[in-house]
Amino acid sequence: MPWCDDCAKFWNPNSMPPDGTCPTCGQVIADVPDTAVPWHFWLLLGVLVLYLGWRVVQGVQWLADGGSPFWAITSIAVTAAAIGGFVWWWLRRRRAAGDAPGPTE
Ligand SMILES: [Zn+2]
Repeated sequence: MPWCDDCAKFWNPNSMPPDGTCPTCGQVIADVPDTAVPWHFWLLLGVLVLYLGWRVVQGVQWLADGGSPFWAITSIAVTAAAIGGFVWWWLRRRRAAGDAPGPTE
């Protein structure tokens, strides 16, 4: 529980700015919390993407084997659009983060 000497007050970490300063006087009263994403989160995310991707492939195979090529092609198109949309969003987000201080946006 961070304590500010100048304000003589305890602060709830959730009500403080993320840089560890006192909300009233701005003095640094707490360590900056470690907000980096742990490596095993990305490992888990990668495994999840591989697993779900394989399940999508199996689903398309199941549709094609069941004699409904229309739904197989439709599901491939929807999956491709979803992946393309995600990549588009991700690239836009990266570009926006890089150009954030620029005067054009
Ligand atoms: Zn203070």
